Amino acid sequence: MKKLLPTSTAGSLPKPSWLAEPEKLWSQWKLRDDELISGKQDALRVSLQEQHHSGIDIVSDGEQTRQHFVTTFIEHLSGVDFEKRETVKIRDRYDASVPTVVGPVSRPHPVFVEDAKFLRAQTDQPIKWALPGPMTMVDTLYDAHYKSRKDLAWEFAKILNEEAKDLEAAGVDIIQFDEPAFNVFFDEVSEWGVACLERAIEGLKCETVVHICYGYGIKANTDWKLTLGSEWRQYEQIFPKLQQSNIDIISLECHNSHVPIELLALIRGKKVMVGAIDVASETIETPEEVAATLREALKYVDADKLYPCTNCGMAPLPRDVARGKLSALHAGAEIVRKELA
Ligand SMILES: [Zn+2]
Repeated sequence: MKKLLPTSTAGSLPKPSWLAEPEKLWSQWKLRDDELISGKQDALRVSLQEQHHSGIDIVSDGEQTRQHFVTTFIEHLSGVDFEKRETVKIRDRYDASVPTVVGPVSRPHPVFVEDAKFLRAQTDQPIKWALPGPMTMVDTLYDAHYKSRKDLAWEFAKILNEEAKDLEAAGVDIIQFDEPAFNVFFDEVSEWGVACLERAIEGLKCETVVHICYGYGIKANTDWKLTLGSEWRQYEQIFPKLQQSNIDIISLECHNSHVPIELLALIRGKKVMVGAIDVASETIETPEEVAATLREALKYVDADKLYPCTNCGMAPLPRDVARGKLSALHAGAEIVRKELA
């Protein structure tokens, strides 16, 4: 990006109430068949228009065509049985009934490529596309076939690489891998998590991002945050490994979090998508609050490497709140851009 401090979102944006039940994750579609296909496309157009209108520089589909950031991708793979369910603990935090890996996993067809082509046709701005990361995918399944988190993650990494290459060919400028699991399984991140991520981006020419965070503003996550103490130092354990990796950009939560901002020094040299919008609160940040977070980050990130962003996805928020937060992000970045000029 030539523009200084280009803004973007971490991923999801609220869906219109005619498409899916609002203000919740995993909400059911309200349309079916052909109506659902065109409804998703209309929602994508609206989401894009809202990003344009708010002055967001790197735009996305707002994840309007998917029900969930991990599950929707997995639904399109073979080797996973969604009828056969087991209860597992996700991210060591909450129990969930999850599908079972019953055989070798593969991607019979591209998953998001048609959606990405559709988005590409609607805008000339740079576009970013989010995919789940291999470790986070493994962490949402019961594995009755590979019986090894590492082996399953490696297979997913190969599949993600196929999808990423097709997305790149469809004109996606930045591909993001969502790895909230990196914040929990530190030993595995070192042992195989980063290696799987690098396998997923192998051979790509477009820019790549890993998004790590403390999750959506859902109860399981806000309860977990209460147990983390006054200083959240989780990033400290994984940053050195990410700093040495081939990933171009690291996307993380900064605003209203207890992450000591000086930890950003551990990833010096990388581009950083700095979360300056709290997605766990319905209070809309002022532009000055956004600017304050960015100024703090600028102590550790060079200005040409700083990408103002949201802490995480905004799918569960009311639409007017999400719109207000997008505008605040734009206005806050503009304040700091003027100061730097
Ligand atoms: Zn996130």
